Amino acid sequence: MSVLANALSRVKPSATIAVTQKARELKAAGVDVIGLGAGEPDFDTPDNIKDAAINAIKRGETKYTAPDGIPELKQAIIDKFKRENDLDYKPSQIIVSTGGKQVIYNAFVATLNAGDEVLIPAPYWVSYPDMVALCGGTPVIMPTDLESGFRITPAQLDQAINANTKWVILNSPSNPSGAAYSAAELEALGEVLLRHPHVQVFSDDIYEHLTYEGEFKTIAQLVPGLYDRTITMNGVSKAYAMTGWRIGYAGGPESIIKAMGKVQGQSTSNTSSISQWASVEALNGPQDYLKDRLEVFRGRRDMVVSMLNQAQGLSCPTPEGAFYVYPSCAGCIGKTTDKGMLISNDEDFVTALLQEEGVAVVHGSAFGLAPHFRVSYATSTQALEEACKRIQRFCASLS
Ligand SMILES: *Cc1c(COP(=O)(O)O)cnc(C)c1O
Repeated sequence: MSVLANALSRVKPSATIAVTQKARELKAAGVDVIGLGAGEPDFDTPDNIKDAAINAIKRGETKYTAPDGIPELKQAIIDKFKRENDLDYKPSQIIVSTGGKQVIYNAFVATLNAGDEVLIPAPYWVSYPDMVALCGGTPVIMPTDLESGFRITPAQLDQAINANTKWVILNSPSNPSGAAYSAAELEALGEVLLRHPHVQVFSDDIYEHLTYEGEFKTIAQLVPGLYDRTITMNGVSKAYAMTGWRIGYAGGPESIIKAMGKVQGQSTSNTSSISQWASVEALNGPQDYLKDRLEVFRGRRDMVVSMLNQAQGLSCPTPEGAFYVYPSCAGCIGKTTDKGMLISNDEDFVTALLQEEGVAVVHGSAFGLAPHFRVSYATSTQALEEACKRIQRFCASLS
């Protein structure tokens, strides 16, 4: 009998964490590595938010809180949903968890039974399929590609839904592709979902404040008929450069939110009291710097897209959001490196790129669409420019 749970055999370790770790090891060994693998902003958490945390410690806000979040943070979240998304929630419809990651996990633990299917558009965030599998459900992948702009179509969604479909996950703007659906596209997907009342919608809006084209909209706002079966998830990690603070949250139907709270109450209980107070300030405090950061990210995006499109064998669309680009390396497959290594897939491409030029990126097969790779441009413009030059040189050296 194995010591390990059977469910674990259906789960792989996170590829993004593995690449980041590999780059860290090479760096420690003295290799000149530029890491473009990590999915977190390079900016520091703003001082007003840090001060709110320090003040919370000094006030003694250092004890257990309500498992699903302090009332002050729930109210700040309710105000945020109203102000930015025109969504109305009561405190009983809000949960605060240890990152958006735990919100997703709670939702699946609380709802999935064996045989339940979760529809996931590919390329997807690495954790979705594994979390579904760990919770006993079946991930069902809906493929997209460069030509479809990494977006599923209403017909494709309609076809993928069957009697076992419990959830569909939407992530716009997307990690890893950066693609975002327009309001009209979300409404068209919503039309399909309205015809299938047994399907719940999980909207992962973590990149809301990194939208370059058009205005951010979320599906529960655009399609009011879906409000009663949509979990709208968000968090402070990406918008406020607070990845280490571990605060994510969601609004949704009271019955599901309550069930998620039950799971959390018997696992982690409340997330850090100090981080919760910091997040009250993040959501209620000044928001003007978000726009300044967006412009910095936009500048980096444009530079990276332009430089990668000049590399032989790469094709890089311009994403609408997030801080990733997802170029195709199809034109490099079948070629050989200077050192005689054959590039037969995107994993070979990223391995050779790291070894020969010291640039760490993540292979597309980890996100369910190959041959591509993900570049995170949440790093300094100078490092990005150097990394793109190295990628150009690497591609030119293939024969
Ligand atoms: C970063 C990220 C999250 C959640 O991050 P947390 O730090 O756990 O809040 C969720 N979804 C996607 C797509 C992400 O990239």
